[in-house]
Amino acid sequence: MHISRRKTRQISVGNVKIGGDAPVSVQSMCSTDTRDVAATVTQIRQLEAAGCEIIRVAVPDDEAAQALPQIKAAMTVPLIADIHFDHRLALKAAEIVDCVRINPGNIGAWWKVEEVIKAVNERGIPLRVGVNGGSLERPLLEKYGWPSPEALAESALNAVRALEDVGFTNMKVSLKASDVHHAIDAYWLFAHQSDYPLHIGITEAGTAMTGAVKSSIGLGYLLAQGIGDTLRVSLAADPVEEVRVGFEILKSLELRHRGINVIACPTCGRVEIDVVKMANELEKKLGHIKTPLNVSVLGCVVNGIGEGKEADIGIAGGEGKGILFKKGKLVRKVPMEELMDTLIVEVEQLAKEKEAEGQGDLAPAVATQEWEPLVPQSAHSSTRGKEIPVLPRR
Ligand code: SF4
Repeated sequence: MHISRRKTRQISVGNVKIGGDAPVSVQSMCSTDTRDVAATVTQIRQLEAAGCEIIRVAVPDDEAAQALPQIKAAMTVPLIADIHFDHRLALKAAEIVDCVRINPGNIGAWWKVEEVIKAVNERGIPLRVGVNGGSLERPLLEKYGWPSPEALAESALNAVRALEDVGFTNMKVSLKASDVHHAIDAYWLFAHQSDYPLHIGITEAGTAMTGAVKSSIGLGYLLAQGIGDTLRVSLAADPVEEVRVGFEILKSLELRHRGINVIACPTCGRVEIDVVKMANELEKKLGHIKTPLNVSVLGCVVNGIGEGKEADIGIAGGEGKGILFKKGKLVRKVPMEELMDTLIVEVEQLAKEKEAEGQGDLAPAVATQEWEPLVPQSAHSSTRGKEIPVLPRR
């Protein structure tokens, strides 16, 4: 399926480009206390190893702001500071980080926002303007009666316009709601009225399983329509899981080709090996590989090789022995107890060969194309003076 992505402006968060023709990036947020530098850096290293491309930390007080230089010095991917309420923390963070996230709805008087703009401009770093259903401006709540998608989109557009009015355009935007429908509608409305890049996410999505499902539906729907330039899957779980789910969403839509794609059979009465355990182990042990590779784990040889012929490499269970195959062709038989280790060694080797051939990149599978919005074209190239789109019926 070809996804035509919405054409947006492009910004840079450190060395990661967001919007324009850049691939959709995956980010996460530390769950540690930012003041605890050692714990935060440990988690950052785990996130980096999982492929996380941008990492955000909460900066709730002065002590957390003071920890930022040490944290930043210990990481390789860009750092975003998450600021609420106190603009002075944003001013301090702006001296260190690669992007500052503020919610204009809770930062207070406009002069405070202007001070933040001055600070980020001095370092040439962008802002993430994050509006949230829980902190909408009173006039919008009175106008719409509740934090509706229309209210969220209008809040974000108002913030963008106010920033543009003082000459600031180096920003990405997020509109967070925890209800999947509301989040989709809010992003959809904004996307059809502005060309700023979007950070997409379903906020407070839930635990590892429910949150992954909600995020896959919400973000998957938006991405399939070409909306979304960077994403965070919010889970009440280890943030490494957020990164894994994020890449799985992008891989499922063929928006990114990154790392190992484990193809495991559902098992049935013919199964000869512990497919579930092996598939889970593979995902864990091969999570560091960035080269795109399809790896099959199939329960038996009856249909094994045939079912796995789309895979670059795989194993299938047999009577007392397993088989190793590549591209649907038998390579050799392997004793059961050596099957897993053999596969891991072979996958590592294959990844190295592909990298040497120049196929190890995180190349996006889909280049940015001219977007075909569902409302007239005139509605998405600017943020003002255009007709307001009507939400589609779903
Ligand atoms: S590969 Fe074998 S065990 Fe797995 S579902 Fe197919 S027939 Fe069943």
